[in-house]
Amino acid sequence: MNQPVVAKFGGTSVADADAMSRCAAILENNTGTRLAVLSASSGVTNLLVALASGSHGPEARTDMLQQLSAIQHRILDSLERPEMLTRHIEDILNHIKELADGAAISPTKAIGDEIVAQGELMSTRLFVELLRRRGTDAVWFDVRKVMRTDDRFGRAAPDLATLKAEVEKELKPLCAKQLVVTQGFIGAAPDGRTTTLGRGGSDYSAALLGEALNAAAVEIWTDVPGIYTTDPRLVSEARAIPEISFSEASEMATFGAKVLHPATLQPAVRCQIPVFVGSSRAPEEGGTWIRNTTPSQPLFRALALRRNQVLLTLTSQSMFQAHGFLAEVFGILAKHKISVDLITTSEISVSLTLDAGAELLTQEVQDELAKHCHLKVEEGLALVALIGNRMSEAGGTASRVFQAVNEVNIRMICYGASPHNFCFLVDEANANQVIADLHQELLPA
Ligand code: ADP
Ligand code: ASP
Ligand code: MG
Repeated sequence: MNQPVVAKFGGTSVADADAMSRCAAILENNTGTRLAVLSASSGVTNLLVALASGSHGPEARTDMLQQLSAIQHRILDSLERPEMLTRHIEDILNHIKELADGAAISPTKAIGDEIVAQGELMSTRLFVELLRRRGTDAVWFDVRKVMRTDDRFGRAAPDLATLKAEVEKELKPLCAKQLVVTQGFIGAAPDGRTTTLGRGGSDYSAALLGEALNAAAVEIWTDVPGIYTTDPRLVSEARAIPEISFSEASEMATFGAKVLHPATLQPAVRCQIPVFVGSSRAPEEGGTWIRNTTPSQPLFRALALRRNQVLLTLTSQSMFQAHGFLAEVFGILAKHKISVDLITTSEISVSLTLDAGAELLTQEVQDELAKHCHLKVEEGLALVALIGNRMSEAGGTASRVFQAVNEVNIRMICYGASPHNFCFLVDEANANQVIADLHQELLPA
């Protein structure tokens, strides 16, 4: 087998039978694609996450189960309800109901992942049937055989060595023979229980499988024809970027561009696999290629926005000329697996931002930090990231940025650590306008 291509289709791309047919056509037109990695149909994971939370009463659960069932049955109807598959999907829906009833009594993260994973298990079964009906021979594959992870349910980390070994053994021989359809987002803990890689994790799954298969390329088929200069839902003038480097695209994903899961490019960078982002609705429009280097390296490339940021300010009189205060603070955060994004310091205080809302900052963490310093926690902030090249070397970058947003109170700035980004915090209420103003000023058409 030549180096295969791995194609990932996101939730909207497999939302219903029509959308799935467009994905099938993409695969049929690219016979080098030997592995299709699917998300759950659009809306399904949100419903499953709500059921897994255990926080809904019986009526709300029944309503959500009906919505789930309707999505699956619409696709089954288009496929003329093949008997075995219909029974299989019914079994999965019943399994979800039983698990959700259990979660309502005593929710656990492990049961949560078992529930949430059913979305991908159903979409892949339906898609294989759709392909077969179109005359394309495809085989369904349970990715949990190869995507072995640790047991941090909800955000499991892959075990790369086992993944590579299992892919060689289980998946590569299948891909050599025919098109294989498998699940993104899900995996299995060492004891076999189902895990998930975190919301939006199918992109990451595809890149990991691409790495393990030594793929020629990984294609991310979604609802936009490429990576845009900023989220097109925020700025209508945003436009697709034909080519972007791994470093720039990684910064975009890390700083909130939802089009790629933040970890997606790690495997691609490790083995230099180019990644393509395109629209399954309009494949003829082309898309964005993400590669090691690109011919053009503009100073300003794109803008990203990450909402729901927490700003933590720690003040200690004893920080003045003292050793070890920062090590102490970071030690406590690391112990609780809280990752820090931006940092600024003054003589007696340090401010840092945390992603993922304030949930991680439990009372226990706050009490532990309070033993060393005074603590101030602020929410309702958004992180704006300008992505580009050699920004820290170019004269006048900061003044151009600040002129574009001179009416807005900027809470914190991070500039200089990376040549590829310039970040700052603003109040959530100003975020959309800041992105629009910066786009107009720095990324005009
Ligand atoms: P999928 O379900 O296919 O994984 P997502 O909804 O996760 O799709 O990602 C696609 C969405 O990402 C787009 O609809 C768009 O609104 C959003 N997005 C955010 N930033 C960008 C960007 N810079 N370029 C393109 N899309 C972006
Ligand atoms: N279905 C999962 C989610 O909605 C994974 C993905 O779509 O990438 O988060
Ligand atoms: Mg996504």
